[in-house]
Amino acid sequence: MAAANESMTDLKAEFAEYRRELHKNPQTKYEETFAAGLIAKKLKEWGIPFEQGIAVTGIVATIKGKKSDSGKFIGLRADMDALDIIERSGVPHTSRNHGKMHACGHDGHTAGLLAAAKHLSITRNFNGTAHLIFQPAEEGGNGAHKMIEEGLFERFPCDYVFGAHNWPFAPLGKAGTRVGGLLASVDKFDIVVTGKGGHAAMPHQVIDPAVVAAHIITALQSIVSRNIAPVDSAVVSVTNLNVGTGAFNIVSNEAKMSGTVRTFSNETRHFIKKRMEEIIVNVAAAYGAKAKMEYEFTNDPTVNTADGVEMAVKALTEILGTENVDGNCEPTMGGEDFGAFLAKRPGAFVFLGQSVSGNEKSPHSHGLHSPFYDFNDDVIPIAASFFTKLVENYMPLKK
Ligand SMILES: [Zn+2]
Ligand SMILES: [Zn+2]
Repeated sequence: MAAANESMTDLKAEFAEYRRELHKNPQTKYEETFAAGLIAKKLKEWGIPFEQGIAVTGIVATIKGKKSDSGKFIGLRADMDALDIIERSGVPHTSRNHGKMHACGHDGHTAGLLAAAKHLSITRNFNGTAHLIFQPAEEGGNGAHKMIEEGLFERFPCDYVFGAHNWPFAPLGKAGTRVGGLLASVDKFDIVVTGKGGHAAMPHQVIDPAVVAAHIITALQSIVSRNIAPVDSAVVSVTNLNVGTGAFNIVSNEAKMSGTVRTFSNETRHFIKKRMEEIIVNVAAAYGAKAKMEYEFTNDPTVNTADGVEMAVKALTEILGTENVDGNCEPTMGGEDFGAFLAKRPGAFVFLGQSVSGNEKSPHSHGLHSPFYDFNDDVIPIAASFFTKLVENYMPLKK
């Protein structure tokens, strides 16, 4: 692997230690007081001004270059939250907070952005202003949305915004991103079918919600296969179906279903919701039943802009070499709330490989959200160099 620049490599030991402290002390959405405390302590130590309490535990640090008369601003983001998972990685810095775990590597993202903060505050080789955004509640808490609602971009102007996620599905030293949808929107739905219960031996006297639910589930499959353009991508998955009381001879009144919808555009997302409503109501009506759906929009799709990707690929190429950077990587139907920032500002989100080639059992090779996973500290200098290069390339000192 091509090394990150030398001084960044020197910073690695210090920041790996912070990362392990964060890993030992995981907290979930809006309760990330340990991470926020450590970030605030270090920023103070390094003389970097910051504001805290944005979206409860969020922090934004501001670093000005040797000059800032270019009038340019850039936003760099890391998330801080953990998950409700019982850790089984077996690493020495295992979670001390039973039932909570940094299984998505946000401990590493925080350490990487902190390393960039220290480096940028010492070197200041740029003409402009960098805002370093430490975000709470990425995992199902809409932390990005909440920061935006609390005036993030008004209080801390950003021409562009960038973020990085460790990627155990690629080896350490590789990186990927793409123009357009990189991660999907994440929505949740609940459907209730109301029929008419009764004795299972007298089907002519009941409206069986199980039969209606089965037809609805089947009909929903036609949205992706028949309504969405073949070159577009979407997922409609019914993941739960509950019907019946457990008794073998009773038809119940209700069936309940829930699941998720994933897309790469808000247009497709709204179209799917509309088609679902039409199918659910009308299929139920065909059998004399009623059905209603509650649909919750959670994460926006993460859609990178072309200029953002160009800047990200340039920075990554300088660090890792052309052969290790894929500017048109495969997108994933997984979700990430960074999409909320990209809905407001141009920029890009990137994946930084972290698995250990030939060692599937390494905690760094386990997938995100696995109880066996652990962030790879070798990604810290890569992430920190990525953020630093973005700043220095977009806002050069000499013009
Ligand atoms: Zn995650
Ligand atoms: Zn994550």
